[in-house]
Amino acid sequence: MIPLCVPNISGNEGKYLAECVASTFVSTIGPFVTRFEKMVAEAAGTAGAVATSAGTTALHAALVAVGVRRDDLVICPSLTFIASANAISHAGATPWLFDLDQSSWTLDPELLAHELANGTERRGGELFHVATGRRVSAILPVFTLGIPADMDPIVEIGRARGLKIVVDGAAALGAIYKGRMSGALGADLTMYSFNGNKTTTAGGGGAVAGDDEALLARFRHLTTTGRVGADYDHDVVAFNYRMTNLQAAVGCAQMERLDEFIVAKRRIAARYEDAFRGLNGIGRFPDPEWAESPAWFSGFAFHGKRAGEKSLALRTHLREEGIDARPFWKPMHDQRPYADAPRTAMPVTDRLWPGIVTLPCSTHLTEAEQDKVIATVLAWCRG
Ligand SMILES: *Cc1c(COP(=O)(O)O)cnc(C)c1O
Repeated sequence: MIPLCVPNISGNEGKYLAECVASTFVSTIGPFVTRFEKMVAEAAGTAGAVATSAGTTALHAALVAVGVRRDDLVICPSLTFIASANAISHAGATPWLFDLDQSSWTLDPELLAHELANGTERRGGELFHVATGRRVSAILPVFTLGIPADMDPIVEIGRARGLKIVVDGAAALGAIYKGRMSGALGADLTMYSFNGNKTTTAGGGGAVAGDDEALLARFRHLTTTGRVGADYDHDVVAFNYRMTNLQAAVGCAQMERLDEFIVAKRRIAARYEDAFRGLNGIGRFPDPEWAESPAWFSGFAFHGKRAGEKSLALRTHLREEGIDARPFWKPMHDQRPYADAPRTAMPVTDRLWPGIVTLPCSTHLTEAEQDKVIATVLAWCRG
């Protein structure tokens, strides 16, 4: 089977892990954690970063750190991995699910402005959702496929209403928005994931990056049991969300190769695009003019009436031919845990999602393997 997206472990991972063992620094204190945080901050374009056990735990603690409270609503696109919505729930809040901007598959600033203008009201310096009476405290844009949302208007709209902004940039390292790096777009905190299917992995792990040193310190405090001093003294109900030195050792070896991996991802995406350009009824993955995509995933989307059927049939055929191809994140408004979450109408998401096909895009995918994928897709589409 040609896998969909698997880690490329062919650098210094083994060497650094052996250093952890030899030094006995295998747990949550160690030089690799510090080095990893520096590398993430540099790649995000921020003053600092704090590493965590996972992207999900980073998002949870980030929402708490910026002040999201029980019973709040947090604005979030419906098309995301369920971790974004779950992190909102873990913070005691509820996602307010939004439809997408069609050109980027990310949060639509016009829809955001419209919903805030028509569905919320200000009371005592805070913003409330009229239909549910809940406070709206934050926006959680998701950088779908690693592609930045149109952050300039989103930040402007959010700040004008006093909303905090926490970005789910799980796969966005290496992305550029209007010449700026993915962590430097005006959010309070930006989360990155180092799960095994991301462009760089730590085995598992996450981080937040940002420029507000006090906020990063609060986040670190919250993710490390809220300890003050050395004598089991804690000042807040906090979390144990630290990254271990073992994870960070793998993460450092991977981050050394981030640029190389992104070149590989973009080359893979470009070869698929060239190959499928002329096909009828197929749309490319988004390429908004404001962004340079890190091309985390490759694939395309069938459109038209039978898009969902075609996507399923092609994926089934590819798997029979030894090629892993999958659907993409099932939207939150179609998931049981979020059946009752407040939402906008979802015309773009509902039209788009069923037709999406993701294709093999590991950074060490060979040209011969990709040629096989391309030939199999072309034969199916023409046949
Ligand atoms: C991978 C991913 C996450 C979750 O990260 P974990 O490290 O697996 O917890 C969250 N959001 C998005 C959009 C992701 O792609």
